[in-house]
Order: sequence, then C-alpha cells, then structure tokens
Amino acid sequence: MSEAKVRPGSVVVLGGGAAGMIAAWRAASLGKAVTLLEANGRLGVKIRISGGGKCNVTHAGSAKVLLEAFRKEQARFLRPAFHVFGSEDLRALLQRLGVDTYERENGRVFPQDRPGSAGEVVAALEQLLQRSGVQVRMGARVCGLIGVAPRLEAMVLEDGSWVRAESFVLATGGASYPETGTRGELLETLRGLGVPVNAWFPALAPVALMVPRPEWEGVALREGALQLRAGKKGKRLAEFAGDVVFTKNGISGPAALELSRDIEKARRSGAAWLGYELIASSEESLDAELLELQQGNPHLAVRTWLQKVLPARLSPFAMTTLALPSDQRMKDLPREARRALVALVKAFPLGEPRSVSLARGEVVSGGVSLKAIDPHTMALKGWDNVRICGELLDIDGPIGGYNLQAAFSTGYLAGGA
Ligand SMILES: Cc1cc2nc3c(=O)[nH]c(=O)nc-3n(C[C@H](O)[C@H](O)[C@H](O)COP(=O)(O)OP(=O)(O)OC[C@H]3O[C@@H](n4cnc5c(N)ncnc54)[C@H](O)[C@@H]3O)c2cc1C
Repeated sequence: MSEAKVRPGSVVVLGGGAAGMIAAWRAASLGKAVTLLEANGRLGVKIRISGGGKCNVTHAGSAKVLLEAFRKEQARFLRPAFHVFGSEDLRALLQRLGVDTYERENGRVFPQDRPGSAGEVVAALEQLLQRSGVQVRMGARVCGLIGVAPRLEAMVLEDGSWVRAESFVLATGGASYPETGTRGELLETLRGLGVPVNAWFPALAPVALMVPRPEWEGVALREGALQLRAGKKGKRLAEFAGDVVFTKNGISGPAALELSRDIEKARRSGAAWLGYELIASSEESLDAELLELQQGNPHLAVRTWLQKVLPARLSPFAMTTLALPSDQRMKDLPREARRALVALVKAFPLGEPRSVSLARGEVVSGGVSLKAIDPHTMALKGWDNVRICGELLDIDGPIGGYNLQAAFSTGYLAGGA
C-alpha cells in the first residue's frame, strides 16, 4: 500500500471511454493534475466499435431536440449537460481536431465516411488528452474504492497498489460487451459504499426467442411495428415501429433493439409474447378490405395476397398456421379463416422471448441513480470529492448517437470546476 501525499489539485479519472476522456481533458484544461486510468491497453474501445465501426458520434439538433429522445426523468437530468456541451459543441470540437462530421437524413451524425473513421474520433480525443497534459495509465483495472462518505481516499488497482487523489471522476461505463472492458464491477462496489444503484438490464440488445427460427435467419419484417404483449387477452405493453430481422436465435434489427429493455422487464415479471404488426390498418378495415377482395377478385390465391404483406419465406408458415391449403382461393375463405388471417397480419406471431443478452446490449439500462447526482456538476451527493458520468449513470437513450452524446456531455460537466 502506498501512502504517498495527495497532490493538491490532483484528479483521477477512472475509465478511458467517451465520458472519461472528455472529463479528463476538461479538468486538465482547467489546471488540474489529471491521471486517467484505463483497464484496457488502449482508449475508447467502445467508440471504436460504435455504429458498426463508423461511430454515430451524436445526433444533430438543439438540446431540446436531443432531450426529446430520452425518458422523462433522464431528460430532466441531462438538460444542463446538453445545454453546456451539446451536439454542436461536440461537432465543433471534433472539427477543430481535424475530424469533420456529417449529418444523415435521419439526423444521425458520423465522421466523414471512410474506413477507420471511428478510430479518428478516438485519435482526436487522444490528441486533446496529450495537449492538455493528462497522464494516461493503461492496463490499470481498479478493483476497489477506499473511503467513507463524504471522502473517497483512494482506488485500489488489481495489483494491490493504491492511487490517491484530491478528487475522483468515475466513468467506467455499463455492464455490457464485457470484452470491451466494461464488466460492471464498479456498480457493485458503489452499492457497497451505500451509493444508490438501480438494477441494471440489457438495452438495445438482440432478443432470443423460445422457439427460434434459424431457417428464417436474415429475413426482415419491414414497415410495421414490433409489439410486446402479455396475458391471455394479449394486453399491449409496448410497441416500436421499425424493422425486425430474424437471427439464428431470435430477432434483432432496430425495433427489436429499441424494445429489448421493455421485453426483458416483461419477461422477468411473467409471461410476455411478441408479434409484428405488418399492416397498420385497423382489424375492421382490414377485414372489410378482404371482404371486398373476396367479391371483386374471388380467384385470387390467399398465398398471393400474403406474399404482398409477408416475406416469401414466411408465407408457407402462415398458410400452415391458418390451416389453409396452399391453393386456397379468396372466394372459398370461410369467415373464421378470414378473421384469423386478419389477426395474423395484425400481429405476426414471434412467440415468447427467451432472453435478452446483457453481454450484447449496446447500452445498459439502470446504474447509479440520477437522484444521487447533481445534474449541474455530476457530483455524487453526500460525497465531497466524487463525480460520476457516462453510462455508469442510469441513462440509456435510443439508437441514433444519443448515448455517446450523453457520455460526452456528462463527462464535460464532471471535469468542470
Ligand atoms: C456495439 C456498440 C455499438 C454502439 N454504437 C453506438 C453509436 O453508434 N452511437 C452511440 O451514441 N452509442 C453507441 N453505443 C453506446 C456507446 O458506445 C456507449 O453508451 C458509450 O461508449 C458510453 O461511454 P462511457 O464513457 O460512459 O463508457 P465506455 O465507453 O464503456 O467506457 C468505460 C471505460 O471504463 C473502463 N473500465 C471499466 N471498468 C474499469 C475498471 N474497474 N478499472 C479501469 N477501467 C475500467 C472500460 O475499459 C472502458 O474503456 C454503442 C455501444 C456498443 C456496445
């Protein structure tokens, strides 16, 4: 154990991701002596794999626009951070460091499209750290915190050594993609120190189904909505409009990722099942449309109509589910079968979810309770020298650059005066 004197103005930032790097740079640029500790052998590992390696670094728009994407309590918490260091500020900073960004039609912002563009964002942030004099220690995994409220005294590294400082910024991220360094151990450590930590769930993660359909792997359900239902009556718990793609074990794609947090919660608290609404019209108008077809186009094969609304690989399954022969014509479709057909395209059955992978979540829902943090400084309430930022906090936004922006913005405040 090292009992070295604590240097006045010293700050240790734990975690070299988006939040930690910005916090370290900001604190150093305000004159602090900053050490950044990172378990990995390199910085910004998650940034490097974000957006499929292209890094959807933020979302275009004012603070107000960005806040609308978050749940109410998260938006309230993030307001000061997004006002002080928003999407435009981040883009301007990156531009000053030689990384131009562009906005796609859907508002998502990326560095200019070329191989390794996510790495360019990390390199830019590394430049900031170097210029501002931040000391970076790689391969430094912290396994314990020493202190009693209101003062944290030191961090304990895996090799048993201690790192002391006047103040500390914790930015160790969530608990998904453990191979990127985020194993979530600090969440348990903080709980042990009496810090309120909300239970954590996977979010933006693929969903495994009880009865997977590996034969449909790669097939997409488009232009509809994924629905989460529960109970005998199929009460609708949540819904997300967007595509779903079948995987070997279940489903992925934007709608599955966005609904995964709700799916996991519903799965843990009882039976839940999933369906995909292929057609937005009401059951009544759909039924009326089919009736009209039965009269106006009686020889039309039901299979042909189904192939218009369903991917081809799925229609034999639909015909079997409806117990219809493959050459069934519209004119001979009994009323009950017509109703069943309407029900099938209103909620194409995907069955019960088996699990939502925490390891594969792009983010984690849950973490340090926002009630325990001052939203203007990211200071941990009840502690004089601890600030917390990034995904370690109970913040999880949708896909679209919101999560990285939240990490950058809260990191900026955490490194502030
Ligand atoms: C596959 C994938 C794609 C994504 N794509 C996007 C995207 O395009 N746009 C977007 O906005 N968001 C995206 N995200 C989410 C986004 O990457 C995260 O929300 C964001 O990186 C969180 O930043 P952070 O700094 O809080 O945490 P992290 O980036 O996770 O950084 C935490 C750091 O702390 C280190 N650490 C953890 N524990 C310790 C310890 N005990 N000791 C020392 N160091 C430790 C870790 O090694 C890690 O480097 C994606 C996530 C994933 C997994």
